[in-house]
Amino acid sequence: MASTRMHFADPHPLVRSQYSSTASHVCDLCRSRLAGLIGYRCDACNFDAHEACADYFKKSITFFAHPWHALGLSRIPISSTGLSWTCDLCREDCGPGSFVYCCAQCGFVVHPLCTLLPQVIHSSLHIQHYLHMVPATGNCSGCREALPVWHYRCGLCAFNLHIACVSGSGGGGGGGGSGGGGGGGSGVVGGSNLGNRVAKYLLKQSFKLAIDAATGGMASAVMGVLPADSDDYS
Ligand SMILES: [Zn+2]
Ligand SMILES: [Zn+2]
Ligand SMILES: [Zn+2]
Ligand SMILES: [Zn+2]
Ligand SMILES: [Zn+2]
Ligand SMILES: [Zn+2]
Repeated sequence: MASTRMHFADPHPLVRSQYSSTASHVCDLCRSRLAGLIGYRCDACNFDAHEACADYFKKSITFFAHPWHALGLSRIPISSTGLSWTCDLCREDCGPGSFVYCCAQCGFVVHPLCTLLPQVIHSSLHIQHYLHMVPATGNCSGCREALPVWHYRCGLCAFNLHIACVSGSGGGGGGGGSGGGGGGGSGVVGGSNLGNRVAKYLLKQSFKLAIDAATGGMASAVMGVLPADSDDYS
């Protein structure tokens, strides 16, 4: 008898499943693969989630980047093909049918995974002070490219960094599809890895430590399911 559970993200009982090592299913919450892991699935809705993600991500959260209102987890309508939704933090797409935390009142949208990004972080590129995630404009002090609205900043020194540049290992902006190549590791599914770029940052040691500190270690189970391929330790 398969065990099931209810979850606010799906109206049906979800079946606890062991995904095969070749399964192409992607977690609807963190956008990473379920291959070889345990998760919960609804066949009717084609909904899948890692066990860790089903436990960690809450129906409603408070988030420093939008302190005015609670953010609710909701699904971008499949029919919204004409509209494009972009994560306010990482500026990457939130595809139709994908789950996001959003404030409907203000149109603020953020990937579930991006809610793990710490508000305050320490970077080896700027050891004097902590950097805070803030909305501003300017250029990155690391790679010199223009910054998206949200980035890490030391206000005292007007020192700014892309999320990707915080760990100091170069490789900031751009990021065309042909990254990596060497090293190998598990094959990456084409297309649908919306969360993977952010996932890669979150696995950097500097982020991991800050996330653990901010969540009391609660989020480490989620980081444990993220794809570790092309992770250059720093
Ligand atoms: Zn997940
Ligand atoms: Zn369902
Ligand atoms: Zn994002
Ligand atoms: Zn709002
Ligand atoms: Zn940069
Ligand atoms: Zn500073």
